[in-house]
Amino acid sequence: MIKLHIGFDDIDSPRGGCTTHFTALILSKWIRERNIELFDYPNLVRLNPAVPWKTRGNGSLVLRIMVSDLNTARDMFEEAVSEAYRYVGRYKHPESQPAVIAYIGDIDPRLKWFGVKALTDLIPLTLLERLLDRLGERVMYRGIKGRRGLIGGLAGIGYRMTDTDYTYELIAYRSEEYLGKPRMVEASSVKYMDQHTKPYTFLNYDYSIDKPLITPHGPDPVLLGIRGEKPEILVKAYNMLRINEPVSLRVLYRTNQHTDSHLRRRTISEAYIYTGAIIRGIVYSRPRRIRGGHVVFGLRDDTGVIDVAAYEPTKEFRRVVEKLLPGDMVEVYGVIRPQSSKHGPTLNLEKIRVVAVKPAVKVENPKCPRCGARMKSMGRGKGFKCPKCGYRDPNAHKITRIIQRDLEPGFYQPPLHAFKHLMKPLERFGREKSFFPEIFSPRNYIWVNEKLLK
Ligand SMILES: [Zn+2]
Repeated sequence: MIKLHIGFDDIDSPRGGCTTHFTALILSKWIRERNIELFDYPNLVRLNPAVPWKTRGNGSLVLRIMVSDLNTARDMFEEAVSEAYRYVGRYKHPESQPAVIAYIGDIDPRLKWFGVKALTDLIPLTLLERLLDRLGERVMYRGIKGRRGLIGGLAGIGYRMTDTDYTYELIAYRSEEYLGKPRMVEASSVKYMDQHTKPYTFLNYDYSIDKPLITPHGPDPVLLGIRGEKPEILVKAYNMLRINEPVSLRVLYRTNQHTDSHLRRRTISEAYIYTGAIIRGIVYSRPRRIRGGHVVFGLRDDTGVIDVAAYEPTKEFRRVVEKLLPGDMVEVYGVIRPQSSKHGPTLNLEKIRVVAVKPAVKVENPKCPRCGARMKSMGRGKGFKCPKCGYRDPNAHKITRIIQRDLEPGFYQPPLHAFKHLMKPLERFGREKSFFPEIFSPRNYIWVNEKLLK
């Protein structure tokens, strides 16, 4: 038996269709027709969200399958390519660069490195070419329209998630005749599910806007996705929902979503544009609200300075940021956006840890000991005089008063509706995983017309 990893990227379009849907379809086909044996759950790997040419969801899908021999592997690769052609033919979109890529064997260390790099950095096409050369016959690939998608596909294969944090997502897909219509999932049942399964599921419902978060918008075939820590809790959570339309297909994915795996600890001098960073520094300029409702402040460390912005969609999170004062020590989490004519490189804030707030002091003139009025300075080093009763004190000094800060040290995050795929919610802190077996036969991970496929 040999290990076959097949990665798909960018098999989607804004007009419907998506790479996870395509993967789910070919997976169900292969289970029925080839009785394939996976050695991992289907993987959904989100890549660097700061990449300028990223695809819509910037996700790569990987099936990891035990096959009997090399011929079967080649055969399945060719079948995947022709199925991908057929699928994108149904949802034509000129900007997508659908890619299918297969790799045979255990993950090569260079491939693993490539996967991490695709999450935290930019990958030039020349680097892809070089790695494809190195991997030689162990890799088969077809970039249907271009090669950009191959980066995602190969990176997904390399990001194996056996020694890093991961979560799960159970995605339910709609029947074709319902595409474009409102999604018929009862909001009250989402709330019920949330209250009975959290914190082992997360990002189900945003109580601040009173809306479910599990259903996307737009024409794509995803009806809903529930995110959580373990397969069993997701199946249980799904069964708590009241869904008033047919679910044609349902797949459980293992994923790096909500693990912050796109962020690396960096100094400001190492925080290049298009990378994700966690930077510890000192607030050096007071937060200010700029046009568009964004809140921006300056951060410095021993290596430099950078602007940090909490954007308008993060709503009430901006009010926390506005409470910062110069001298406060913080850790900022987010991706670095490029400079424009108006501002320098800016860290787009996804989360903040207030490490220490500097006590705020107010320096004021002393009060008159005779009448209690605030005294006035008679000039530098000349003491103070009371404007009301005329009392003079040549030895009086300004007094400093410590003012209570309205900001506690700790972590702060945006409201749940502002979360993106990779952002780790605070609710997950302490639940991080660091192990998954190299070979594992997943059970209960795909349902067709609500029947478990075995
Ligand atoms: Zn007085």
